[in-house]
Formats: sequence, C-alpha cells, structure tokens
Amino acid sequence: MRILWSGWIVLQNRFDVDDKKDVCAGAIPVGPPDSVTSERVFLVGDAAAQTKPFTGGGILYGMRCSDIASECIDIDDPSSLQLYEDEWRSELSNEIMLGRLIEKFYSLPGIVQKPALKLFQGKIGVHMDQPSTLFSLGQVKAMLLQGRLKSYFEDMNTAGSN
Ligand SMILES: Cc1cc2nc3c(=O)[nH]c(=O)nc-3n(C[C@H](O)[C@H](O)[C@H](O)COP(=O)(O)OP(=O)(O)OC[C@H]3O[C@@H](n4cnc5c(N)ncnc54)[C@H](O)[C@@H]3O)c2cc1C
Repeated sequence: MRILWSGWIVLQNRFDVDDKKDVCAGAIPVGPPDSVTSERVFLVGDAAAQTKPFTGGGILYGMRCSDIASECIDIDDPSSLQLYEDEWRSELSNEIMLGRLIEKFYSLPGIVQKPALKLFQGKIGVHMDQPSTLFSLGQVKAMLLQGRLKSYFEDMNTAGSN
C-alpha cells in the first residue's frame, strides 16, 4: 500500500503553498494492500485503501466492500473473515491495479498526455469506477468509430513538429 501525495505537490507547485501549518490535509491510502483482515478484525473503506488511485475517491468502493463484508462475515465465525478478504479482492483488486496504471499517466510528458486526454473527452464507453472498461472491446470500437484514434495521431504529429 502507498499514500497519494500528488494533491499536496500540486498545491505547492501551482499555488505556491509552502507552509504546511496553514493546510488541513490528509494522505489518501492507495491499495490494494496485502491484507485488510486479522484474526478478529477487518477494515473497510479508506482504512482498507479501497480507493480509486486516479481520483482518490472511495465512496463507491467502500460501500461495495461494506456490502461484501455484511454478506461474507459471520460474527460467530472468525474464519469467515477470509471469505471477505477473498471476495472484495476478486471484485476490486484488478480495478485498483488498473487505476494505479492510469494514475501513472498523470506524470507523462505533456506531448503524450494532452492528445491522449482529447481521446477520452466527451461521451466514452468507460465506467469511472471500473478502469477495466477502458480496455474493453466496446471502448476500442467507440474510439475507432468516432475517429478519435486518428485525431490522436494527428495531434501527436502536430505536437512533435512544433
Ligand atoms: C474533500 C473530499 C472530497 C471527496 N470527494 C469524493 C468524491 O467525489 N467521490 C468519492 O468517491 N470519494 C470522495 N472523497 C473520498 C470519500 O469521502 C472517502 O473515500 C469516504 O468518505 C471514505 O469513507 P470511510 O467510511 O472509509 O471513511 P471516512 O468517511 O473517513 O469515515 C471514517 C470515520 O471514522 C471516524 N474516526 C476516525 N478515527 C476514529 C477513532 N479513533 N474513533 C472513532 N471514530 C474515528 C472519523 O471521524 C470518520 O467519521 C472525498 C474526500 C474528500 C476529503
């Protein structure tokens, strides 16, 4: 698990904020963590790093994992905690890993980033909480049909020749 500090870096660089005393802020845990259960305890939500790495949002993932916890955990049977651990992972851990890939995109040079952002402008076939939809066949088709890929490579060429 690691902590998302990018928001703080943006504040420092863009708005010249350099005194941490004037800022009320916290770090956002980004998963997936190795474990969110122990023998008799489980974590859910932000505490379990069930967050979207590329936005820091955690409402939907946290609520989904609360549902999973309530379905899986039997308070009279601590071994049921493992079921919760397995279930939430099978549902969200790939989405969180893909989200981490998307977050890396923020650090790419502008020459790649700007045209790529245009590629995803407007109505696209991607569900924000399911980064896996970004790599779906439906999404590739939508981008091809709308000529977005063509305009992406045109923009890359223009940026490269400037
Ligand atoms: C400004 C802002 C905007 C956001 N916007 C979005 C958004 O648009 N979409 C989205 O999905 N997510 C958003 N988030 C993130 C979202 O709020 C969190 O992911 C979500 O609230 C996490 O829920 P949680 O129940 O895990 O934790 P929390 O909501 O943080 O709840 C934890 C609770 O535990 C209490 N607590 C802490 N320590 C103790 C203690 N020792 N004893 C007793 N109680 C304690 C806290 O007071 C708090 O009430 C935003 C967060 C912020 C700060």
